[in-house]
Amino acid sequence: MHQPIQIGITGGIGSGKSLICRIFHVLGVPAYDADSQAKKLMTTDGILIDQIKKEFGSLCYDERGVLNRELLSKTVFNSPEKLTKLNSLVHPRVAKDYNQWMNEQFGAKYCLKEAALLFEAGSYQALDKIIVVTAPDELRITRVLQRDPQRDKTDVEKIIKNQMPQDEKMKKAHFIIKNDETELVVPQVLKLHEWLKSIK
Ligand code: ATP
Repeated sequence: MHQPIQIGITGGIGSGKSLICRIFHVLGVPAYDADSQAKKLMTTDGILIDQIKKEFGSLCYDERGVLNRELLSKTVFNSPEKLTKLNSLVHPRVAKDYNQWMNEQFGAKYCLKEAALLFEAGSYQALDKIIVVTAPDELRITRVLQRDPQRDKTDVEKIIKNQMPQDEKMKKAHFIIKNDETELVVPQVLKLHEWLKSIK
């Protein structure tokens, strides 16, 4: 049986990637959430756990093996070098996990890989087509503040600043889903779904 076509779905924080993936999910399209899996692997993948302890100290995990996310986030939040290091440990493990998942998607015409940093991390290169979800910065900030009460506006602005600018992402996209709440997203997804099913 042939492998599904691999479609990446990306966009800045709060653009609505997860929401769009939920619509694809309702249509029966398998979707891999790389950011959630990365978080999960940091507490379940023995190789990754050892690497994190070695690089950032064993205090990152408590005696029961629970990751102290707050400590790790604080450590990397103000240090681009440390953040790059952490990403360089996590990304290969996520790539391996994704490939295993992909090999289990028998019969699907196409599947989705959702990740905020698909372009920044370079993982878009292994995918066949890329969807970029867009929304204006102000709307994205409002959404994230509503979704994540632990974050403040300065945190979200800083994350946006550290991500590839939206117009650059749009230039690299094969498809764009506009999620600015002026255009309905379900018809955009349905149209794209028909097209993706027809790709040879
Ligand atoms: P992140 O990069 O942080 O994971 P994301 O791109 O996956 O963000 P979502 O979590 O899908 O973004 O959306 C952010 C928030 O905005 C969520 O609470 C979601 O329900 C809400 N949201 C997204 N799009 C819309 C929309 N069109 N109408 C109303 N709410 C929306």
